[in-house]
Amino acid sequence: MDTLKGKNALVTGSSSGIGKAIALLFAKEGANVIVTYHSGKERADEVVKEISQYGVKTKAYGVDVAAEADVKKLFAMVDEEFGDLNILVNNAGINGSGIPVEDMSTEIWDRVIKTNLYGPFFCSREYLQYKKKYKTYKGSRIINVTSIHEYVNVPGNANYNASKSGMRNFAYTMALELASREMTVNNIAPGMILTPINEKVIDDPKKLQAADDIIPFHRGGDPMEVAQVALFLASDASSYVSGSTYTVDGCLSILGPNA
Ligand code: NAD
Repeated sequence: MDTLKGKNALVTGSSSGIGKAIALLFAKEGANVIVTYHSGKERADEVVKEISQYGVKTKAYGVDVAAEADVKKLFAMVDEEFGDLNILVNNAGINGSGIPVEDMSTEIWDRVIKTNLYGPFFCSREYLQYKKKYKTYKGSRIINVTSIHEYVNVPGNANYNASKSGMRNFAYTMALELASREMTVNNIAPGMILTPINEKVIDDPKKLQAADDIIPFHRGGDPMEVAQVALFLASDASSYVSGSTYTVDGCLSILGPNA
């Protein structure tokens, strides 16, 4: 129960889905959790209420991770309220567009790249300023929730695929930059997880069945199954693990090309 006792963790996009599961599990394991959301303050407040039951400190902040000034403001407020941070989970993200490149507007390209790639850059940079200020690199963590589209491509998803594969080298570069200080940076690559981001599939029994038929486990994942991997990567148990991607997909991404 005390795996993360006394640690301060900021989880972006923790009002919903995978981020919410990570926030709840970290709190259950003793971490003080900073919840962030983009829209839907009520859902974030609900998460804060649930977290409070574990007797840890928590607060929700609204932020657009794609907006540099917003992110700077968030980290300044968190510093004032919580002091040093030990764990950053870059989880906030939005889906691709389903539009092929030849028809993709710059606006649609930008929206996904700004949220999924600039967002983690802005948050990681601010977080690393904390490390510089508090001189607490060793044992600190960056965990990025990417996707199997870090390395699996599907047509009509160029903005999403590019954002998530960009996260791969972004994370691995940070891992190298921080290695001598024993601060770790790792990615989690989920397959199909049952969260609101997939509501078009989940809410349509035919589409859900078709997806389940393809996934070797014959089901989508539960957000808590991703959170458990995040807990390992946040904990002292992963002290020598950095620059890695942990895939959580019920074998989906290792299917051959004729699946
Ligand atoms: P979700 O829609 O349930 O949650 C997304 C969260 O991100 C919400 O809290 C939302 O408020 C926040 N968010 C969105 N845009 C934001 C912005 N501009 N600024 C700040 N916060 C913002 O989705 P989810 O499935 O929990 O997705 C979480 C992460 O997991 C995403 O990065 C997504 O790409 C990744 N992922 C999800 C799946 C899946 O099948 N669910 C698969 C692979 C990867």
